[in-house]
Amino acid sequence: MEKTIFQYSSPGRIGVALPVLDVPETAIPGQFKRKEPIGLPEVTEGQAMRHFVRLSTMNFNIEKGLYPLGSCTMKYNPRLHEFLARIEGLAAVHPLSSDSSVQGTLEIMHKLGELLCEITGFEAVTLQPAAGAQGEFAGLLLIKKWQEERGEEHRNEVLMPDSAHGTNPATSTLAGLKVVSVKSDEHGRVDVEDLRSKAGENTCAFMLTNPNTLGIFESSIEEITKIIHDVGGLNYMDGANMNAMLGIARPGDMGFDVCHLNLHKTFSSPHGGGGPGSGTVCCREILRSFLPASTVEKTEDGYILRDRVGKSIGRLLAFHGNVGVLYRAYAYIRTLGSKGLREVSEVALINANYMKARLKPYYNVPNDDGPCMHEFVASGADAAEKGVKTLDIAKRLLDYGFHAPTIYFPQIVKEALMIEPTETESLESIDAFIDAMISIAEEIEEKPHLVTDAPVNTPVLRLDEVKAVKDLCLVEPVEYEQ
Ligand SMILES: *Cc1c(COP(=O)(O)O)cnc(C)c1O
Repeated sequence: MEKTIFQYSSPGRIGVALPVLDVPETAIPGQFKRKEPIGLPEVTEGQAMRHFVRLSTMNFNIEKGLYPLGSCTMKYNPRLHEFLARIEGLAAVHPLSSDSSVQGTLEIMHKLGELLCEITGFEAVTLQPAAGAQGEFAGLLLIKKWQEERGEEHRNEVLMPDSAHGTNPATSTLAGLKVVSVKSDEHGRVDVEDLRSKAGENTCAFMLTNPNTLGIFESSIEEITKIIHDVGGLNYMDGANMNAMLGIARPGDMGFDVCHLNLHKTFSSPHGGGGPGSGTVCCREILRSFLPASTVEKTEDGYILRDRVGKSIGRLLAFHGNVGVLYRAYAYIRTLGSKGLREVSEVALINANYMKARLKPYYNVPNDDGPCMHEFVASGADAAEKGVKTLDIAKRLLDYGFHAPTIYFPQIVKEALMIEPTETESLESIDAFIDAMISIAEEIEEKPHLVTDAPVNTPVLRLDEVKAVKDLCLVEPVEYEQ
C-alpha cells in the first residue's frame, strides 16, 4: 500500500527555511491562538512535492492519453491558447471595468461572435451561457418568447427524438415546456412519419442533436425542419457535436432557427472537471431582440457591452460570460482558419470511421448503415453470456491506460459504448486503443474474470460509484488499496 503524506509526517520535520527573525519578538494575543494543533503533516519540501505530483498523476487526463468519451469531444487543447488566455491585458481585466478600458476583450468577443455566426450560418449571437445546457435553456426561451410575441403562447410542446442527449429534455422542462418524444427508425434516425403525426398546433419547437447521439447525420434534415416550420414551430439544433461538420455543413442552411455550440468541446478549452465553459447561442435575425442581456456591440466610439432591455429574456450570467473560454475559442478559430477548421472535422470523421471499421469484427455496432460522423456507438451486449457488462469493459480499458468511452448512453442501444476519438489523436494512439479493445474482446472469451475484476492497475480499485458521489470524503487521509 502506498503511504499518504500523513503517514510520512514526523514531529518537527519542516519543509521551509524561514529567514532569521530581525524584528522584536512578540507573543500572539490569546484570542488569536489556536486551541488545538492544526493537524497538518510535518514533512520536507521534497516529500510535499512528491505528494502533489503523485496526486496529479492519479486521475486520467487528456495530456496522459486517449480520452474517447463520446459526445464530450475530449480533444487535446493546444498550449498556445493557454498562453494567449493568460496575457495580462486579457486575463486580468476586472468585470466592472469600463467598456473603454477593455476594448481588447470586447473586440475579441465581438469578432468571435461574428465568426461563430459564419460557421453556423446564423445572424445573431449571445456568448453569455456558461455551458451547453444553459445555451439550450437560453435558446428555448428565445423560441418561447417569439411564440408569445406572435400570440401563440399556448404552444407548449418540444418534440425531440428518443435518442436525444439527456440535457435536451431537462432544459425543455426547466423552460416550462412539455417533452414529446419522437421515435427513431431502424437506422437510428428520426422517424419522419412519427414526427409528422406529432407536430401540430401545440408545437413550440423541435430540438435535435445533429449528428445525433448515435453519431449519425440526419439525412432528412430539410424535410424535418420544414415539417416543423409548416406547423408554426421553430427548430433548435443542439450543436454540441459541431466537431463533425465545421466548414462542411451549417445548421442555418438546414432549416434550424437557433443552435448552441459548446465552445469548450469543439473550440478547444480544457473541460471535463466541471470548470468554466461556454454554450454560445447563434440564431436567426427574427430572434435577435430576445437575446439575453448583455451583448457586445460595435459603435462609432468603439465596442460596448450593451445591457439589453425591452424584449430580452433577461440575464443569464454575470458580466461578460466566461471570457477565458471565449479567448481560447477565438485563438482556435483564428489559428486554424476556414481551411483548418474543415480539416479538423474531416480528420475527426476519418478517425472515428477507421476505429469503427477495425473494431467491428470484435464488437457489435448496431444501426450501422454506412459511414458514421465523429463518433459511433458499439454495444457490449454480446459479452453478457460470459457474465461481462459494458461497465466491466470500461473499467478494463483503464488498466490498459485509456479513459473509457461514454457508456450506457444513448439509452436506445443496449450496453452502449459511445466512442469519439477526435481529430487530435495520432494513428499510433488510435491503433493502441483499438488493440486494447481487441485484447479485451479476447479476454472476454478466454478469461472473463480479468475484465470483471478490473481495474487492477489504477490507484483506486473498483469503486462503489454511487457511494463515491453521495458520500464523498475529501479531508480524511485515505488508505489506498493496492
Ligand atoms: C455535452 C453536451 C451537452 C451539454 O453540454 P454542457 O456544457 O455539459 O452543459 C448537450 N448536448 C450534447 C449533445 C452534448 O454532447
